[in-house]
Formats: sequence, structure tokens, C-alpha cells
Amino acid sequence: ERLLQIRQHKCNPMTTKVTYYQRPVFIHHGYMQWLWDMDGRRYLDMFAGVATVSVGHCHPKVREATEKQLGRLWHTSAIYVHPQIQEYAEKLTSHLPEPLRVVYLTNSGSEANDLALLMARLHTGNYAITTLRGAYHGGSGMTIDLTSNAAYKFPVTSGQGCHSTMCPDVFRGPWGGSHCRDSPVQTTRECNCSPGQCLANNKYIDQLKEVFATCVPHQIAGLFAEPIQGVGGVVQYPRNFLRDAYKLVREKGGICIADEVQTGFARTGSHYWGFQGHDVIPDMVTMAKGIANGFPMGAVVTTEEIARSFGKGLHFNTFGGGPLSCAVASSVLDVIKEDGLQETCEEVGTYLLEQLAKLRDKHEIVGDVRGKGLMIGVEMVKDKVSRDPLPPEHMDEIFEDTKDMGVLIGKGGNYAQVFRLKPPLCVTKADADFFLAVFDQALQ
Ligand code: PMP
Repeated sequence: ERLLQIRQHKCNPMTTKVTYYQRPVFIHHGYMQWLWDMDGRRYLDMFAGVATVSVGHCHPKVREATEKQLGRLWHTSAIYVHPQIQEYAEKLTSHLPEPLRVVYLTNSGSEANDLALLMARLHTGNYAITTLRGAYHGGSGMTIDLTSNAAYKFPVTSGQGCHSTMCPDVFRGPWGGSHCRDSPVQTTRECNCSPGQCLANNKYIDQLKEVFATCVPHQIAGLFAEPIQGVGGVVQYPRNFLRDAYKLVREKGGICIADEVQTGFARTGSHYWGFQGHDVIPDMVTMAKGIANGFPMGAVVTTEEIARSFGKGLHFNTFGGGPLSCAVASSVLDVIKEDGLQETCEEVGTYLLEQLAKLRDKHEIVGDVRGKGLMIGVEMVKDKVSRDPLPPEHMDEIFEDTKDMGVLIGKGGNYAQVFRLKPPLCVTKADADFFLAVFDQALQ
């Protein structure tokens, strides 16, 4: 009956609102890169619950590790130590460069960023935070101010995103949330450089300097930046932008926080962490989503020095670092290695980018194809001359048709004009071909 109600759009709008589709899908079960609905229809999952089910739905090894832990210990709260947290912290930090050695575990990405924000302020003694336009860092009380897109904000929050002293503590740095990189078609309205001669880096670094000069009345506590913006529409920064921004922030007394919630755990293919693609080492790394393949978990990894400042206060998190989530996350790290998922991600991601570039050349409404590994954005435009975003009703049409032909994808970008592909890292080239055939037809 419920399924029928959903199909007939009769269910409560408060619940259907989050289903994303005009004709919702009611998922019954999943295995690896596949999902099945109540009627037994199979879908290729090209979005992985927003880049979260990284190693595959119900992966047998993760399931085995979870079942083993289920029969052993579920919860102690942070007042006891248990072997799973110790093992996990060691395993996780072995994937990170020095001096990132201290791990705090949370239950989500927003919580991890909340904690990082608090730690940055405590450590530096400063209050101002800079984020970049187009950024998404969470929907909790504090992180909602760091998030850029107004659609996620509610009138009670202070963060409007600002370039003036109106906004008391969060300053929106540069970067337009749209594309600006060497590519045949630039869809941004902010950068009109010709392809191959993008001067945006200097321009954005200058903007960041200006923000510091005009907005920040005192020293800065930190910069939050995703190595590649996810919700913002798979936005890549100009070469060296992040490296120069880190330098500037550190000169101003702040620390640099890499939000790896979407980019972490091998999603960008050639690198285990997105920041490695920018030649920087952050002072803090926040992570979630793919960390535990869909099990609620997040983490902040930082230096001993920063952790020491934080140790002066009392921090408590009932569920963070529980034995069950640690066991799941630990098996996720093993599976990424044992199944060779970083390599698959690089290979299939590169293939998809190449093939999608052909669709971009074929279809007037595909403005840009970009990304790294299996974090890919397809920016849709009215036409390649105006570069105006494709209107929502057309986006929806393509989105629904793709789903009806058996593939689930995501959407993002400031104008919801970007299709996002973030499948489980176990997708194959054959899956990529299936997706490409379906997508081509939907675009047609
Ligand atoms: N940071 C980034 C980059 C994200 O994409 C998200 C979620 N979309 C978050 C933080 C917040 O994570 P969560 O939804 O787990 O709170």
C-alpha cells in the first residue's frame, strides 16, 4: 500500500521530498554496485548513497566483519578503550602522512567538521573561519554556516556567505562553485579566460587576500576546503590554488582543514586522499561517508600539537568510536586494499571521463565533463554558447529517464545543473558501458 502511495505521489510530502525522484524508487536490497526495487527491478548504482557505499552494498567481507563484531561487543561509550578503536586508529593513520597521527571518531561528516572547527578555534585562539563558495561542510548547527549553498540554510542561521563585515565569524572565500579549469567549454560566469590560459588561480588567490583584508578583523582560525567540491558540482580548483591558499592561511595564523568526506578513501583514484592531488599536507583531515561503507561514522585526524590544545577541554561523544563502527571501518580499509579498489577506481574513472568527453562533444546540452577517479561531474547547459544552466525540468527529465532505464545517478551544483557520478569503487568497465549507453539515450 505504501509503495502504491509513493508511486501515485500520494504520500506525505515531508517524506517524499527527500526521495529525490519525481517517480520515486523504493529500494529493497543491494549487492555490490547493484540495487533492486520492490518489484525486483535491478539498478546500477552510480551514486552509492552519495559517495558512501564505497566498497559495494553488503560486501561479503564487510558483512562478515560486522557479523563477527555483532556477536562480541556493540557499545561501551568513549569512557573505555577497546581493541577495535586502537586497531582502527593505527590502521587509519598508516594511510596518512606525518604528522597526522591523532584520531577522533564521530558519527557523521557534519559532526567531524563541527569538531574540527572547535579544535581550530581552540588551537589558534582565533575565531574567524574561511570557507570557499560552493562548499558543503554539513548541516549541523555550526557547519551549516560553513556550507555555501543557500538552499541548505534556514533563516535562523547567521551564515549568509559574505564578503563584508556583516557576517561575524564565517567568511566566504573565493571560488564560484562553477567550473573554471582548462577545458573546451567553461561554464562559469565568473571566469572568462580562454581554454588553456586560465588565470583564475591568481585571481582567486587575490580574492582570498581581499577577503582577509576586508572581512577578517583579527587573525584567522582556519580554512575549510574540500579537495574537490562534491555537492557544489564536482568542482576542481585551478592548479596550485589550494597550495597557495594554505600558505596564505598559515601566514595569517590559521590552520588548514581538508574535508575529505567525499574525496577520501581512494575515491579520486590516483590518490588515497584528495589533498594529495594538491601537493599539500593539511593540519586536520575530516572524513565520513565512505569511511564505513554506509555505517554511520566520521573522523577527524590531526597532529599531536593540535590535539594537545584540544586536550585542555573535555570532549565526549557517546557513539563515536564504538566497537561496531570501528570493526566495519577497519574491514573497509582492508577491502579497499584486497580488492584493488584504488586501481579499479583509477581505471574505470579514467575510462568514464574519456567516454563522457565523447558524449560532451556529441550533445549540445553537455557543457563540461570533469572530475577525478570515480568522482565525476557532468555539467549541463542550455547550449554551449550561452553556457546557461540547463533548466531544472530538463535536468529532471534526463534524471528520471536514466533511472527508468536502470541507472541511478546524482545531482549537484549551485543551479542543480550537474549530474554527479560517484558509484561504488567496484564498478567495472562493462558497468560503465551500460551507464554510458543509457545516459546517451537519455540525453538524446
Ligand atoms: N562534508 C562534505 C564534503 C560532504 O559532502 C558532506 C555530506 N554531503 C558533509 C561534510 C556532511 O556529512 P554528513 O551528511 O555525514 O553530516
